[in-house]
Amino acid sequence: MSLLDDYAQITGIDVIAHLRQLATPFSGAKVVHVNSTRMGGGVAEILTKLIPLMRELGIDASWEVITGENQFFECTKGMHNTLQGNQIHLSDKLLRVYENTNTDNAEALRSVLTEADFVFIHDPQPAALLQHFPARKGKWIWRCHIDASHPYRPVWKYLRQFIAPYDASIFSLAAFAHELPHPIYLIPPSIDPFSDKNIELAPDAIENVYEKYQLDPERPLVLQVSRFDRFKDPIGVIQAYQLAKKFLPSLQLVLAGGEATDDPEGAIVLNEVQQAASGDSDIHILLLPSDAHLEINALQRAADIVVQKSIREGFGLTVTEAMWKGKPVIGGDVGGIRLQVINHHTGFLVSTPEGAALRIRYLLHQPGNIREMGEKARILVRDNFLITRHLREYLALMVALLY
Ligand code: UDP
Repeated sequence: MSLLDDYAQITGIDVIAHLRQLATPFSGAKVVHVNSTRMGGGVAEILTKLIPLMRELGIDASWEVITGENQFFECTKGMHNTLQGNQIHLSDKLLRVYENTNTDNAEALRSVLTEADFVFIHDPQPAALLQHFPARKGKWIWRCHIDASHPYRPVWKYLRQFIAPYDASIFSLAAFAHELPHPIYLIPPSIDPFSDKNIELAPDAIENVYEKYQLDPERPLVLQVSRFDRFKDPIGVIQAYQLAKKFLPSLQLVLAGGEATDDPEGAIVLNEVQQAASGDSDIHILLLPSDAHLEINALQRAADIVVQKSIREGFGLTVTEAMWKGKPVIGGDVGGIRLQVINHHTGFLVSTPEGAALRIRYLLHQPGNIREMGEKARILVRDNFLITRHLREYLALMVALLY
């Protein structure tokens, strides 16, 4: 039995048959995905699963990761922050590092990208590769995972010169899309129900995390899983917890994060979070290795409520992961979280620590609502945000670009 057939148990057989049919024209086609980290963050999470599934459909799919020095990632983190609305000036020196790093990577990847039938370039980091392939054979698609709804204009204008020559762009939702001289597709991301992050776990796996992190299974547990990034508002989560704890003294909070190799700001934000939490032994800040998928899975299952209090969010795979585990999510009223958290149905949308605290208190006083909303959350993910839907939309896009 193939990997794909396993998905039929969840999605039904027709979904899998449809994927096989859509993939028929691409038998043996070379499809290359390029991003800037193999571990950490949502893009790496998706590609880890998408590539084997594409291969199983007979597509010659591969994944390349560009490399760069610290200054390159400093620049691309700045781009990420400015696309999400921060007004930061990126110096000419940093922009030259960005361009030169893309030039070096274009040379390193020359043969694989020249040969490719389709190239998916993820996010701004490798966006400037295309200009080095003037006689390209394949179709090049820029895939933006970021909440680019209100970018800082000078940086978007700079990046746009590299993006405009692509054959198509993909954004996660309509609010993020920009006018570009090529077709724009809207494709939200997805999770894999069979990945270590999401697979069903035996009860002892959950008991183990309680024990390992000295959490009390008898007391309510609120969790946020996120890179230590200000857009994820970990300090706001601590404030919400502190407000709720006045009424629920037994409350415990876990902030689980780790490092993405392309995120140089993580250590600074982690330090801020540790300061904000100091003195409260019920706040557990867990610095997990980037392959701690089973452990994050267990924490998400152990939590009563999952929070994702982002103030900007491209999509929020952590929201999807929690919802798939039947947890209601209290999420920031931004970006892709709005696609998933249907206010009062699959969770609550909030804009302030006070709002989050109120919803934490409400849910913990209504365990029946936790279950009911959690069940709705799981169904919403099953019907909209599994990897089979994502793959179908990529294949449909590839079909559209053939003509
Ligand atoms: N993640 C992880 N370890 C961490 C923090 C996050 O494995 O310490 C995973 C998380 O489970 C999710 C992804 O990284 O699958 C984060 O994706 P999301 O879209 O939520 O945010 P991004 O980091 O891409 O902004």
